[in-house]
Amino acid sequence: MQEQIIRTEKLNVTSQLAASVAHEIRSPLTSIKGFLQLSMRNAEGKNKKYLEISMMELNRMEYIINDFLNYAKPQLETIEVFPVSVILGQIKEEIEPAAQANHVDLEMLAEDDLWIQADRSKIKQALTHIIRNSIDATSASKGRISIAAYRHFHHVCIRIRDNGVGMSPEQLSILGNPFYSTKLNGTGLGLMVTFRIIQAVGGSLEFQSVKGEGTTALVTLPAAADLQLKA
Ligand code: ADP
Repeated sequence: MQEQIIRTEKLNVTSQLAASVAHEIRSPLTSIKGFLQLSMRNAEGKNKKYLEISMMELNRMEYIINDFLNYAKPQLETIEVFPVSVILGQIKEEIEPAAQANHVDLEMLAEDDLWIQADRSKIKQALTHIIRNSIDATSASKGRISIAAYRHFHHVCIRIRDNGVGMSPEQLSILGNPFYSTKLNGTGLGLMVTFRIIQAVGGSLEFQSVKGEGTTALVTLPAAADLQLKA
């Protein structure tokens, strides 16, 4: 337990450091982009082409930095006890328009008394990300996503199942590695942060997937009553 706490603290310090570096890089990046834009006005031929490529690469850098800061921005943690169904209800409401726009059916079944102790906004961020990935994976076909939340002994489980593109065993094995993404506009940072959020509260995130058939993500979190008994 002691070791786990130290590890979590180290992760927090590392992510804060990374976030401040990312933040610092943003301003010189903006000024480089400004100067490039000015240079592009008078450039011709090959030079113009090189500047355009540089601009595209800078835009990509900016996109990655913004995405990173979006996911990993340091914020004060507010630990509270709350039922998972409330968070899931909010996520469903927020995500439903994106699901409908992609012709994806979203179905949710959550038991009421599933109390957990954690930072509400981080858990919401993690669950939202997994569900958004499912929407991305199903949007090309007639998508179906089913979310179930239930109690399993001393844990609260949230299972997110989609009938999307699925993943090969090789893809599964590198899931959560930074910068692994198969999406055109992906950064591969979301699941890395999602894994970390869930592990930091003593939970786990497992994926099962069959290429061409779909994916199931299982989030397991310690139930709050059990945490209180242990304290
Ligand atoms: P990003 O969304 O930027 O690509 P993530 O870390 O969230 O980054 O996801 C990494 C990759 O994992 C995705 O690009 C996708 O290939 C794969 N992935 C994640 N969830 C699913 C899913 N439900 N079905 C199929 N592939 C998935």
